[in-house]
Amino acid sequence: MAEQGKKDRTIATHAGSHPHDNQGVVNPPVYRASTVLFRSVQDLRERYKRKYEAITYGRDGTPTYRALAEAFTALETSDKAVVVPSGLAAVTTALLGVLNPGDHLLMVDTAYEPTRSVCDGFLAKIGIEVTYYDPMVGAGIAALMRPNTKAIYLESPGSLTFETQDVPAIVGVAKARGCVTMIDNTWATPLFFKPPKFGIDIGIYAATKYICGHSDIMMGIVTCRAELHHQLAKMSHGTLGHAAAPDECYQALRGLRTLHARLTQHQATALTLARWLAQRPEVEQVLHPALPGTPGHEFWKRDFAGSSGLFGVVLKPCAPERVEAMIDGMQLFGMGYSWGGYESLLVPAGLTTSRSAKPWHAVGRTVRIHAGLEDPDDLIADLEDGLARLRGN
Ligand SMILES: *Cc1c(COP(=O)(O)O)cnc(C)c1O
Repeated sequence: MAEQGKKDRTIATHAGSHPHDNQGVVNPPVYRASTVLFRSVQDLRERYKRKYEAITYGRDGTPTYRALAEAFTALETSDKAVVVPSGLAAVTTALLGVLNPGDHLLMVDTAYEPTRSVCDGFLAKIGIEVTYYDPMVGAGIAALMRPNTKAIYLESPGSLTFETQDVPAIVGVAKARGCVTMIDNTWATPLFFKPPKFGIDIGIYAATKYICGHSDIMMGIVTCRAELHHQLAKMSHGTLGHAAAPDECYQALRGLRTLHARLTQHQATALTLARWLAQRPEVEQVLHPALPGTPGHEFWKRDFAGSSGLFGVVLKPCAPERVEAMIDGMQLFGMGYSWGGYESLLVPAGLTTSRSAKPWHAVGRTVRIHAGLEDPDDLIADLEDGLARLRGN
């Protein structure tokens, strides 16, 4: 491949692209398929022997899916990728691909909330034990290991509170005990953190967010070493029956081509907003991995190549209706879940019952900001008006 050994920006631009296999057309075509034909019985047998490598049926994913997987693994430096219809499907595919009834899972306390629901509901129902751990546990995770601990799940920075984990310390313990590690790397994307470089076995991505990047596609990607590919692909295509659809794969690949340009801007704008907010008298604390004072900032500095556009803001204590007035009146910041699109968002991020290993006590209400691609001056003006509503004037 021409992009081999090149830098990230070049890989994101060219990987998975084979125009001259398709009459010179730059982007791969959208192959839609259920039925896939074989030339002969021998061809059929051979392709089935290469199951999950060769395409035998639409549920395996078509060549459009393969183009996305090729590009994404090149950028992430993993061997293989399984592409599924949502980020949550990536979470469940990874968990169910590795865990069996009777196994024990160590799950980070700051996991995305639906991931937690999967653990407390579905995994519990099928006899998989889950222990939540403090995201700041580091090498102390050794004390939580049991003889049947099969996997450690990380999400760094954590959802809503943005603690960055000491990944090398945790991976060191896991490797010594022969335990599988997996990380939800949605926030950083492969541009700012590459799980394989840290010895993590499985990468989990809500490609819905920055990879697709335009608030119009749901998609998940699971990356892994070659040895784990068969069991993850089997779980996705063979057991749960979900491979991402070709049109979605096409859009995700298109998003990947501009990921670097977009993320560079999201990063710069988020830092501008975060630093501005940190100086404001209405703000108790800004939770942004690149700002000193956010737990794990030193690990972010050591391990990450950048920061993305999503961060938290803890407000000083005030009446709830003042916070509502602030959020309701925003002109440019939309109020909605998800993130990673081109537009800015601001949502209440109340944490009430979802932490168990290490309860989280914020002094005031917390809001979550996604810095979009608008001009930062306009975003600051919108925030300034919002803080005036917060103060009640
Ligand atoms: C959004 C999100 C997911 C789930 O992705 P969907 O595509 O919405 O299912 C998983 N992990 C994290 C960290 C997320 O923010």
